[in-house]
This record gives sequence, structure tokens and C-alpha cells, in this order.
Amino acid sequence: MQKQFIVIGLGRFGSSLVRTLIQNGHEVLAIDKHEQPVQDISSIATHALQADCTDETVLRELGARNFLHAIVAIGEDLQASILTTLLLKELQIPQVTAKAKNEMHGHVLSKIGADHIIYPERDMAIRLGNQLSSDNLIDYIELSPDYNLVEIKAPPAMNGKSLKQLNIRAKYGCTIMAIKTGDQFNISPKAEDEIYTGDILLVIGSNEDVRHLGVDYE
Ligand code: ADP
Repeated sequence: MQKQFIVIGLGRFGSSLVRTLIQNGHEVLAIDKHEQPVQDISSIATHALQADCTDETVLRELGARNFLHAIVAIGEDLQASILTTLLLKELQIPQVTAKAKNEMHGHVLSKIGADHIIYPERDMAIRLGNQLSSDNLIDYIELSPDYNLVEIKAPPAMNGKSLKQLNIRAKYGCTIMAIKTGDQFNISPKAEDEIYTGDILLVIGSNEDVRHLGVDYE
């Protein structure tokens, strides 16, 4: 379903976000207080505007209150980030996502009503750290602080064995949701289905259980 977003602040983060939202078929109003970033994104975004979003009148005039989702991607200027987030919440935008530079910034943003706080640098570092720590981990989605959905390379030790033989659910408490062999996806595989080196496994489980699975089969 097509959605409409406002992205405020077109630095590295904001402009990449605009590109991705557009590539995914959404409409994006992209705003920055400086001319250059607005020009750079004008051929990509649905609308691009040069405006200072700490000005309430400006936000009202550009119809910000009609949007369901706004993203405040101002990082360096804390005052502008906080004031913009506050004004967007006062305009009753249901979903305001704000980028925080550090924990204290995030804390203030959450106090003034931001619905989602993101810490791109910290989160990328954690993700990279986890990926680099394991030979098998390709990617993961954090379902909760304790549970992850992870994509791992099938380690050679699993080669030629069926799910039944590997007995992963009983041994590790994890569930293999899908096995990808080349371009083929085997969704909800059966007990007798076999795993081969080079397969990609989609596994759901607690962080600890998934880690044990990765380490034991490395
Ligand atoms: P990044 O780390 O993603 O590059 P920056 O903090 O460097 O993020 O960039 C944020 C962008 O937000 C800059 O292009 C800046 O001009 C813009 N910006 C800062 N204050 C405002 C404001 N009050 N209204 C609109 N845009 C702003």
C-alpha cells in the first residue's frame, strides 16, 4: 500500500531514507533548511522544499498535519531536532520517528512524545559487530530484546543431514522456518528435508539459543 511520509533533514541519513521510500513506491515530502540538499533530492522525492521546520507556521502551511508518518532526521542540531519533533507531535501526527545522536538526546525525544527513536550509528555498529562475530550470520531482525529471526549460512557440519537428524528444535530450542537453496525457498520445511552446505537457513529463536546453534555448528 502506498504511504505518504515527511522526511525532515536531508543529510546522509535523511536523503538515503527518501531514496529508499521512493524506491518502495511511497510518496515523500522531503524538507531541509538548506538549499543544496533540497536541490540534490528534488528529482527523486515527490516534493522537495527548503524550510526551517522549527517554525510552527511553516509546518502548518505545508500541511504537515495531513501526514500519518514524519521522520526527523536532523542529527547535529539538537535544538532543531527536539523542537521539530515537539511541533510535529503538537500537530498530532500519529507516527513521529526521530533520529537520536546519543542516549540523552533519545531520552528527551521520547519525553516529548516521539513514537520511535532510532540510533543509526549505534544500531549499525551492533549489527556489524554481531555479523563479524559469527562466520555464519548473514542478517537478523530483532523481534524483541530476547528473540531474533536470523538468516544464517548452513555450516558444513549440517551438510546432507535432515532436520530430523539435526534435531535442532529439541537440542537448541530454535525453529528453522525456511531453507533457501539457490533461488528456491522451502517454506516451513518438513522433518525429512535435508540441508546442504551453501543453503541459507531462516531461524527463529532466543538470542542465546541461536548463538549456541551457530557456535556448535561452526
Ligand atoms: P546526517 O548525519 O544524516 O548527515 P546531519 O545532522 O548532518 O545528519 O544533517 C541533518 C540535516 O538536517 C542537514 O542537512 C540540515 O540542514 C538539516 N536541518 C537542520 N536543522 C533543520 C531545520 N530546523 N529544519 C530543516 N532542516 C534542518
